[in-house]
Amino acid sequence: KSHYQVIIAGGGTGGLTVAAQLMDQPNPPEIALIEPAEVHYYQPLWTLVGGGVFPREQSARPEADYIPPGVTWIKEKVKAFDPDNNSLTLGNGETITYDFLVVALGIQIDWGKIKGLPETLGKNGVCSNYSYDTVEYTWQNIRTFRGGNAVFTHPSTPIKCGGAPQKIVYLADDYFRRSGVRQQTQLNFYHAGASIFAVKKYADALNRVVARKGINVHFQHDLIEVRGEAREAVFLNLATRETVTVNFDMLHVSPPQSAPDVIKSSALAHSSGWVDVDQYTLQHKRYPNVFSLGDCANLPTSKTGAAIRKQAPVLVANLTAAMAKETLPATYDGYTSCPLVTGYGSLILAEFDYTNQPKESFPFDQSQERYSMYALKAYGLPAMYWNGMLRGRM
Ligand code: FAD
Repeated sequence: KSHYQVIIAGGGTGGLTVAAQLMDQPNPPEIALIEPAEVHYYQPLWTLVGGGVFPREQSARPEADYIPPGVTWIKEKVKAFDPDNNSLTLGNGETITYDFLVVALGIQIDWGKIKGLPETLGKNGVCSNYSYDTVEYTWQNIRTFRGGNAVFTHPSTPIKCGGAPQKIVYLADDYFRRSGVRQQTQLNFYHAGASIFAVKKYADALNRVVARKGINVHFQHDLIEVRGEAREAVFLNLATRETVTVNFDMLHVSPPQSAPDVIKSSALAHSSGWVDVDQYTLQHKRYPNVFSLGDCANLPTSKTGAAIRKQAPVLVANLTAAMAKETLPATYDGYTSCPLVTGYGSLILAEFDYTNQPKESFPFDQSQERYSMYALKAYGLPAMYWNGMLRGRM
C-alpha cells in the first residue's frame, strides 16, 4: 500500500500521542506511522537514572505495545520529504503519499560537533544523560567519585528539556554530600547561556539553590573540545572569544542539538531548520496539509514532553478540522513544564508559556523546593505517561 489519509512521521512522544488521540475519534482516518525503532524511551526518567534512582531499563518499553490498534506501523526511516508532491521516501527507497502529514521526528543530538567527544564518550569520566547508551555511565561516575573537579555543561544550541543539564549537577552535589566526598570536590557548571533559567521567578529560586550548594556557575562558556585521555575540556568564552582549558575528573556533557537533517534539508524547514509551523495552530505555514509538534517543530518554547501533552490535542483538533475543510478551532499557548530536580527528594516545578510567565497547576508557590513535586516526577508522571498520555487519554 502506498497511500494513506494521514502519515505520522516519528513514533516518539508526539507521534504516539497524536496517533492514539486520532484513533480515539468516532471515525478515525486511515493512519500509517513511520518509526524505525523497536523500543520507546520515557526520556525524562534519564535524569533520575543518571542519579542512580532507577535502572535505565525502567525507561524503555516495546514500541509495538504503544502503536494503537488499527494504525499501520511502517518500520522504516523517513529518508526524504517531498511536500510539493504530498509524498516521502523511506529508507528502503519506497515512496508513499498522503493527504495529511504529521511530522514528529524529535531533535537530533550532534555529538560530533564537539571535537574529540564521540571518541571518549563513555570512558575517561565523560558521560551524558542525553542517551540510553551513556546514561548509566553518569551514575557510575557519580557513585565512584572520590573527589576532584566535577564538570557539567549546557550547550549554546536549543535543547530538549532546558533544565536537564543542571538537574544532574544538583543530584551529584547531593550524592557527594551523602558519600562524604563533597568537601574535596569542586562542582563547576559551564553554561553557554547568560542566565540559569528563562523565567525570572524560577531563575531566582535556582540561583539560591546554586549559592546554597556552593556550585560554581560559569555563564557564556560553550564546550568545544574534549581531550579524554588528558581529561581536559576546552570551552569558548562567548563574551571574550578566548578559549579556556579545564581539567576534570568527571565531565557530564549536555550535547549540542538541532533539527533532524532530513527536515533541515527539506522544503518543510524554516531557516532555523525546524519544521516551519504556525506557533498557535501547529499547521505548516506553506503546506496546509502538514502539521508538526514536539522537539522538531519551530515553536518558541522549551522543548519537553509536557509541552507535547498540550500540543497534541490542539494538533488533532486542527488536523481534523482541516480534513473536513473547516477553520482551525484550537490554539496552543506555548505551555511547557520543567520539573527541576534540586536533590534526592526535592523539586521545583516550573510551568510557563510563550510569554515566559509562570502558569502553575497547583495552589502553592511552585518555585519552592518540595518533596511532593519530586514524588510526582519520580512516580506519578511516568505512570501518567505510559497509561494516560500515550494511550490518548489526557
Ligand atoms: P521523541 O520522543 O524523541 O521521538 C522522536 C521519534 O522519531 C523517535 O522515536 C525516533 O526514533 C524517530 N525518528 C527520528 N528520526 C526519524 C526518521 N528519519 N524517520 C522516522 N522516525 C524517526 N520532558 C519533560 O516533559 N519533562 C522532563 O523532565 C524531561 N526531562 C528530560 C531529560 C532528558 C535527559 C532528556 C533527554 C529529555 C527530557 N525531556 C523531558 C524531553 C522529552 O523527552 C522530549 O521533549 C520528548 O520526548 C519529545 O518528543 P518528540 O516526539 O518530539 O521526540
